[in-house]
Amino acid sequence: MTAQIVFQIIIGILVLNFIIDKYLDYINSKHFDDAIPPLLEDVYDKEEYVKSQAYKKENFKFSSIIGAFSFVLTLAFFFLDGFAYIDQLARSISDNQIVITLLFFGIIMLGSDILTTPLSYYQTFVIEEKYGFNKTTKKLFLLDKIKGWLLMIIVGGGILALIVWFYQQTGNNFWIYTWAFMAFFSVFMMLFYSTLIVPLFNKQSPLEDGELKTALESFAEKVGFNLDKIFVIDGSKRSTKANAYFTGFGKKKRIVLYDTLIKDLDIDEIVAVLAHEVGHYKKKHVVFNMISSILLTGLTLYLLSFFIDSKLLANALAVAEPSFHIGLIAFGLLYSPISEITGLIMNIFSRKFEYQADDYAKSHFGAKPLISSLKKLSKNSLSNLTPHKAYVFMHYSHPTLLQRVKAMV
Ligand SMILES: [Zn+2]
Repeated sequence: MTAQIVFQIIIGILVLNFIIDKYLDYINSKHFDDAIPPLLEDVYDKEEYVKSQAYKKENFKFSSIIGAFSFVLTLAFFFLDGFAYIDQLARSISDNQIVITLLFFGIIMLGSDILTTPLSYYQTFVIEEKYGFNKTTKKLFLLDKIKGWLLMIIVGGGILALIVWFYQQTGNNFWIYTWAFMAFFSVFMMLFYSTLIVPLFNKQSPLEDGELKTALESFAEKVGFNLDKIFVIDGSKRSTKANAYFTGFGKKKRIVLYDTLIKDLDIDEIVAVLAHEVGHYKKKHVVFNMISSILLTGLTLYLLSFFIDSKLLANALAVAEPSFHIGLIAFGLLYSPISEITGLIMNIFSRKFEYQADDYAKSHFGAKPLISSLKKLSKNSLSNLTPHKAYVFMHYSHPTLLQRVKAMV
């Protein structure tokens, strides 16, 4: 095989990925005006439905333009030997392999951030603003950006430096050490994400005394769940959209309710959401997700170890000598069809788990309040009630509202 052929395979993967993605977006958009299924007729009134149609169409148009723009830019970058140029640039600044790798990825990320920041600015301050979702101030947007960058430099940069060091010390066996470290790190993050990372961006407080707390307490007691672990997060400082999630395990487990969720839903509906989240905990979904992602990381790193020092892959990206960072980029591109498939499989599991958590909430609390809470949440985020089947299969981590309601009635 020649470098030219590997280059063509990489371009083929990029093109195919773009076509599939845009085709799915397109067929999904063809169903924006479908009739609302009878089970969901009470989600929107006439005026809100018209608003939700406009919101879907505006987002579709925006993402189509962005998609085409970034596709052309990506192709240009590949045909103009962009990676070789950045490799040269990084090497002209330092001789140290770790520093070169950090600079290489730093430059790529800085470049892509410069291109994508105006887009996320437009998304937040024009589209989300227009439909009344946005609560983010410009100052908060900037602060989030800076904090995100600092986290990326300290945590991301630290991990990358460590992995390159493993590679320098142990050659192709680096994958074993990297895997052990990544497994440790993901367990650590699972335990401490809520106490170390979330406070950088949001305030979390224990639930206040009152009618809601009493209702949640009596449910929690019934199913044997420790209520100290329920927190309220100030999601309202960024968006009116509501959410709830379960995180951590053992003594560190917690259920986080957005303040927007508490504002939008009745007490019974909030208990139903809690019941759904407790269902995820009782059915051990968090542990399953963590173990499968650790196994998947191991497999990916093992495969990477065969390609990391490949001269052929480096040449395919117009770089003369192989290096850790070029090997990583080339492997990442060639591996992307496989990671698409593993992502798809994880989505299938995730949707299955949502049904299980709904079922748990149904049998331990009741279907009616959960259904009405899901309907309210869909309405308040102007969500699409008629997505295309293929689009759901490829992209959705949750079943559609219709599927969830059907499964519960
Ligand atoms: Zn869930």
